Amino acid sequence: MEIKLDKIDGIGPQTLRKLRNANIWSTYDLILNIPKGYQDFFITKPSEMKHNAKITLKAKVVSQLKDNPYGKVFSTTFDIKVYDQVIHVIIFNRKYLSKQVREEQEIIIQGTYNLYRSQLLATEIKTKIDETSIKPIYRIKDVSDYLIHQAVKQIFDKEQVQIFEIIPKYLIEKYRLISRYDAYMKLHCPKDFSEIDQAIRRLKYEETFFLELKVVSDQSSLIPRKPKNYDISFVKSFIKTIPYELTHDQKQAVNDIYRDFKKDHAMFRLIQGDVGSGKTVVALIAIMAVISMGEQAVFMAPTTLLAEQQYHTYVQMAPHLRIALLTQKTPQKKKVIEDIKNHQYDLVVGTHALIEDVVKFSKLGLVVIDEQHKFGVDTRGQLIDKSHSKDVLYLTATPIPRTLAMMTFGKQNVSIIKEKPKQKEPIKTLYVDKDNLDLIYKKIDEEIAQGHHAYVVVPAITSNHVDDNIESTYELLKANVDAQIHMLHGKMTKQEQEASMQAFMDKPSLLLSTTMIEVGIDVQTATLMIIFSAEHFGLSQLHQLRGRIGRNDLSNTCYLISGKDDVERLTLLSKIDDGFELANYDLKLRGPGDFIGSDQSGFLKFNFIDILSDQKLIEIAQKDVFELLKQKDFQTNRKYQYLRNYIKESMKI
Ligand code: ADP
Ligand code: MG
Repeated sequence: MEIKLDKIDGIGPQTLRKLRNANIWSTYDLILNIPKGYQDFFITKPSEMKHNAKITLKAKVVSQLKDNPYGKVFSTTFDIKVYDQVIHVIIFNRKYLSKQVREEQEIIIQGTYNLYRSQLLATEIKTKIDETSIKPIYRIKDVSDYLIHQAVKQIFDKEQVQIFEIIPKYLIEKYRLISRYDAYMKLHCPKDFSEIDQAIRRLKYEETFFLELKVVSDQSSLIPRKPKNYDISFVKSFIKTIPYELTHDQKQAVNDIYRDFKKDHAMFRLIQGDVGSGKTVVALIAIMAVISMGEQAVFMAPTTLLAEQQYHTYVQMAPHLRIALLTQKTPQKKKVIEDIKNHQYDLVVGTHALIEDVVKFSKLGLVVIDEQHKFGVDTRGQLIDKSHSKDVLYLTATPIPRTLAMMTFGKQNVSIIKEKPKQKEPIKTLYVDKDNLDLIYKKIDEEIAQGHHAYVVVPAITSNHVDDNIESTYELLKANVDAQIHMLHGKMTKQEQEASMQAFMDKPSLLLSTTMIEVGIDVQTATLMIIFSAEHFGLSQLHQLRGRIGRNDLSNTCYLISGKDDVERLTLLSKIDDGFELANYDLKLRGPGDFIGSDQSGFLKFNFIDILSDQKLIEIAQKDVFELLKQKDFQTNRKYQYLRNYIKESMKI
């Protein structure tokens, strides 16, 4: 039963038109249009806690209040806890505050937020949380909140809307959630704040549940297959030939993979680890397992250069394996393809040339994809389709924030390699104002005179949007440094790019590049990284760029150049060397699009959950969904029909 809005008292033709402009057509639409906030205080959502933003929080005091009477101005400091996070508060000129507010008390607090220091400069504190009349704020253009509120009340009073329960009953009971109907009613007409909390708790679970239903049902981990019956002595005799001991994290990742092999469904695993953390050998140990049982494996890299490097590494590490290299440039390609089909090769390393229809395998038992985000979903899918067991191992150096990786892969399916085999001297990272370039020029010539290599990275090729680009910076460098300058960018042909890279590696010199160098280029003697217009880049991207240097025992420096007011953010890089921590800042500052590609980030827009602070909830819902999908009667029971339909619908997107 869905009722048109003109049946509701108080909604005339004019209001009707305005509501339709806001895409609200029925009573159900109106109910789903939830309040943006309540009354005169508007509690800031975690996702809106931006740097320098004025925010209002309902928070718990978690420390004693400390008066600081001796400074120029009297100040009081204390800590609050909100959204699972402790924030340090400073407020000026409130001599009596420490008598009014105690530890453990709930307060409403307003002020300016400093994200980097987790600090709130407070201007307003309310100790009485007024719960007598909570009025929702809707902010629908040209329609008063009062009118909406009256309409909503009437809809609930006269039962002019139907809101069905959509979460399985046993889960509602397990978490003592209120019904969907009650949740929307309480959100629109709350008697007190605890009702709003109850409603949000329920709707958060609902939102996470349906997100995970989509994510989990999309994973190959639900594809059944027999446990892999590999020959452990074959694998062990390979491990004995490795000239170093695996790090703890590498061993852990290998264990995770072997546990996956033993399961009765396909592996779907992400290995995350900075450049140089040693993912290559982990992948090779995984590959050994499938080869030991007479299957083939494939390794797909994002560029020809990387595929070639990988191929040579594997040939060197495992000379007894039959390994093929397949890229656009492979000579006698037809023959190689024929031999792959006839199982003359155990392992094929290549680029996206691998996905062409003519490339067929005799028995492909493992797909390894390096830098998975460099490939589209389709490309990955086409390669995986060639395998009979659908086992996939993704490798990435992008420090995707834990929550995001977990949401898209499942908590059990992510292995993280944090420690690096050779702990080198940290890279010195310095912020330089755009007016101080002389010191940069001098440094470039110094380093290159010592036989080292330098990178200069700019955000664009030409001057359409950005001052600092390949063209302008080339002129600037030519006029100011003695060093030989090579270039690398996307408007060059593949041949030009490779020739330029080769010339750069052959002699101490400078490479002026776009972010193309982000992935995989390995020049041991590179000691200098200079990034122009650093304000254009995310922190994790800057971290990855600086990972191009420091692959030696020399002293390495990264300069971040910016004329814009971005010092506070950029200097985080001189303090933090952990890619994951930096990634979390990006997630807060720039949203998830940075990590998973904007084409996929649409499904991460939420009404209720916040991907940073609701990590635990996401974990729980994921587990629930996983168990639900594995229930014997899930595919047959009528009561799950609507969930099966939902999955079918979401697979089409
Ligand atoms: P990435 O994770 O970027 O693919 P690689 O697998 O290329 O990293 O490893 C980087 C370097 O570290 C390689 O030269 C590799 O031989 C070396 N390496 C890997 N694991 C270890 C280890 N446990 N001890 C010492 N060196 C290692
Ligand atoms: Mg690698």
